[in-house]
Amino acid sequence: MSSATSVQGLKDFRENRAIRQCKIIATMGPSALKRENLTTLISNGLDIARLNFSHGDHESHLANIQLIRSISLAVGRRVTILQDLQGPKIRCGKLLADQMLLKSGESYQLVFGSEQRDPAIIPIDYAGLVSDVKIGDLVMMDDGLLHLQVTSISAQSVTVTVLEGGILKNRKGINFPNTILSLPAMTEKDNRDLLFGISHDVDIIALSFVQTARDVVRCKQIIRALGSDVPVIAKIEKLSAVEAIEEIAAVADGLMVARGDLGVECGVERVPMFQRRIIATAEKFAVPVIIATQMLESMIENPRASAAEVADVANGVLEGADCLMLSAEAATGKYPVQCVEKMDSIIRQVESWSHTRTPRYLRRTAVDGHRWLDHEAIARAACEAADTLGARAIVCLTLTGSIARLIASWRPRTPIIAISPREDVIQRLGFTWGVFGMKNPLFYNTDVLLQELPEVLKTYGVVKTGDMVVITAGIPMSGMKPTNLIKINRIP
Ligand code: PEP
Repeated sequence: MSSATSVQGLKDFRENRAIRQCKIIATMGPSALKRENLTTLISNGLDIARLNFSHGDHESHLANIQLIRSISLAVGRRVTILQDLQGPKIRCGKLLADQMLLKSGESYQLVFGSEQRDPAIIPIDYAGLVSDVKIGDLVMMDDGLLHLQVTSISAQSVTVTVLEGGILKNRKGINFPNTILSLPAMTEKDNRDLLFGISHDVDIIALSFVQTARDVVRCKQIIRALGSDVPVIAKIEKLSAVEAIEEIAAVADGLMVARGDLGVECGVERVPMFQRRIIATAEKFAVPVIIATQMLESMIENPRASAAEVADVANGVLEGADCLMLSAEAATGKYPVQCVEKMDSIIRQVESWSHTRTPRYLRRTAVDGHRWLDHEAIARAACEAADTLGARAIVCLTLTGSIARLIASWRPRTPIIAISPREDVIQRLGFTWGVFGMKNPLFYNTDVLLQELPEVLKTYGVVKTGDMVVITAGIPMSGMKPTNLIKINRIP
C-alpha cells in the first residue's frame, strides 16, 4: 500500500479533528467478515483485525486475510493483521447434539478424542490429562461458566462431577486452574499456524497461555529460524505469567491482558488489579498493551452498551492501554459495526478529557529521577516540545519503529507519525498507541527527505501551511544511526 491515502487515522488529520490515539482491535468471524460490515468497520476506524487460530482452517484464514487486505486497499486505510495462536488451550470436541446439559451432581468422563459418541463421555483434545490431574482438582468449562471437580482417574479417563452445571457447546475451552499441565508452550498446531502466518505476512503474532519469559523467547527463536522478525505479543492469562510479568515484558514486543482466561485461571476478582499491574509493566518496558475480552459483551445481542461496559472501556483508556479488543462482539455478535462505533466514541470522549491531565512524560520524571539515555531524552523532549507548541504531529523518521514506540510510551497529546522505508514496520506500528505509519522510500537520503518532508506531509493531508511539526531522526540515515536529532519545523 503506497498511496497518499494509506495512513491509519488520516481521515481525522484531513478533517482537522482530534486524532484517536488508543487503537481498536476486532476479532474476525462471520459477522465482522460480511463484506459490507468489514468495509464499514475499516472505513470507520478499525485499526487491527485479529484472526483467532483457535477456530477455522488455513484455507478460510487465507481467504479472510485476502478479504481484509483487498477492502483495506479499496477503502484506502491500513489495517494491521494480528494472528492469535491457540496455544496449549484444552477444548472439548464436537458433541453429539452440538451441545449438552451438564447437570449439577452428575458425573462424566473426560477422554482424549475429537467427537462424542457416548453422552456420558466428553471428548477433549489433550491426551496427557490423566497423568497431570489429581483428585480434587477444579475443572472450568466455557470461560468458567461451568464448574466441575475431578473425582477419580483411570488409565484412559478422568471422571469429573459437576459442581455448577449448565450448557456445554462444541469446542468450548476447558481450564484446570490448580493443575500444572505438562503441555508445551507451542503445540504442533501452533507451529504449523505460525509458519502459515509468516508465509502470508501477518503483522503481529499473539502467543496464548504464556507461562514464562522462556515461552516467548522460544517462539521468537522459531520466528527467526523462519527468517522473520514479526513481533510477538504475550497473552497474559495464567497466574504464572502475572508472577513473571517483568521478565516477560523484557522479551516480548507487547502484552495482552487476556481477561477471559485470566479470570477463569485466577478468579475474576483479581483481574482488575492484574490489569493495572500488567499495564504499569508495559509502560515501564515501553511495549504496547492490549486489554481484551468482554469489553462490550452485551452488544453481542443488543445495539446499546451498558453503563458498566462503557465505564470499562473508558477505564481501559485512562489506565493507559494501547489497544482495546472486541472478541465475540465483533466476530459473531449482531452489531459489529455499532460496537466499533461505540468504542471509537468512548475513546474519543475519554481522550478529550484526559488531555487536560498531566501527561505521562512529565509524571515519570517526577517519580523515578531516572538518568535518561540519549534516545530517551530525545523522546521526552519531542513530547514536551510538541505538546507545548501545539504541534500537529511528532514525525519520527525511523527504520525499525522503535523511537515511535518509545515516544508513544510517554503518551504525548500530539499524534505521532512514523515514516519508515519498511512496509512491515509501518504495518506493525498499527498497534501502538497514537502512532500512524507512512512508508517513504526517500528515507535513506536524509537531506532530501528532511527538505521534502513538509510537502510530503501536505500531500498526505496531515499538515497545512503554518502548522508546527517536531521531527526526530537518526542522521545520517544511510548510516542507520539511532535517533540523534530533534528538529522543530513550521510548515511553509
Ligand atoms: C482471553 O482469554 O481473554 C483471550 C483473549 O483469549 P482467547 O480469546 O484466545 O481465549
